Amino acid sequence: MPLAWVTGASRGIGKAIALTLANAGFDLVMTCQSRMADLEAVAEATRKLGRTVHPVQLDVSLGEATEAAATKLVEAHGCPDALINNAGITRDGLFAMMGRESWERVLQTNLGSFYSMTRPVLRQMLRRRSGRIVNLTSISGQRGNGGQVNYSASKAGIIGATKALALEVAPRNITVNAVAPGFIETEMVAELPLDKILPFIPMGRAGKAEEVAAVVGFLCSEAASYITGEVISVNGGLYT
Ligand code: NAP
Repeated sequence: MPLAWVTGASRGIGKAIALTLANAGFDLVMTCQSRMADLEAVAEATRKLGRTVHPVQLDVSLGEATEAAATKLVEAHGCPDALINNAGITRDGLFAMMGRESWERVLQTNLGSFYSMTRPVLRQMLRRRSGRIVNLTSISGQRGNGGQVNYSASKAGIIGATKALALEVAPRNITVNAVAPGFIETEMVAELPLDKILPFIPMGRAGKAEEVAAVVGFLCSEAASYITGEVISVNGGLYT
C-alpha cells in the first residue's frame, strides 16, 4: 500500500484529505498539535476503510525539534509516497498593531513547517526517485489580504518554495504542488463574518473541506504524474 503523511489531520481540511487519501488506498501517518482525541477519531474512520494508520502528536512549528521528530517518523514508518503539508494557523490583526509573537508564530507554523517536515522526507524520496509533495497555501498568499500580513507572507512563501523545489526535484520524478483554498468552512474561519464575505464569492457560497481534499487526492494520484510546480485554486471564483 502507498503511504501518505498528512499534517493537521485532526479536523478541517486535513481531516478531509486523510479520508480522501484513505479512500484512494493510502495508508497514513497523520499528525496534529494537541487534539489527539479528534485525531484518533479520524484514524478510526480510516481504519474502517482497511487502512493502516498511525496518529501522531507533532508540533510542526518547533524548527529543529520538528525536523528530528519527522526524521524519527521516517525511521519508524518508512518514507511516504506523498507528503501533505497542511497544518496551519492564523493570528489576524492589522500589521501596525501586530506583535512579533503573532508574526513569528504564523511564519514558524505555516512556513517553517515546510522546511522541517519536507527535508527528512525529501532525502528518502530522492533516493527512491519518486514522490508527491502537496503544500496548502491560500488565496491570501496569492493576492495578499489586509489584516493577514503574517499569514499572507507565510502562504506566499509556500508558493515560492513549492515552485522552486519543484524545479530542483523534477529530474528525480518527484512532484511538488500547492493547493490554494479560498474561503472554506472550517474552524479556522468560524469567527469571520460569512455574510460580509459571501457577496465577493462568485459561486455565492463557502467551500467544503472535501472540495479541497479532492484536488489533493488528484495531485497524489497517477493521473497527476506530469503536473509539478503548480498552484491550484479552490475558491469558487474568488480569485483566478
Ligand atoms: P483548522 O480547521 O484550523 O485545522 C488546523 C489543523 O492544523 C489542526 O489539525 C491543528 O491541530 C493543526 N495545527 C495547527 N497548528 C499546528 C502545529 N503547530 N503543529 C501541528 N499541527 C498544527 O484549519 P483548516 O481550515 O483545515 O486549514 C488547513 C490548511 O488550509 C491550513 O494550512 C490553512 O492555512 C489552509 N487554508 C484554509 C482555508 C480556510 O478557509 N479554511 C483557506 C485557505 C487556506 P490541532 O487540532 O491539534 O490544533
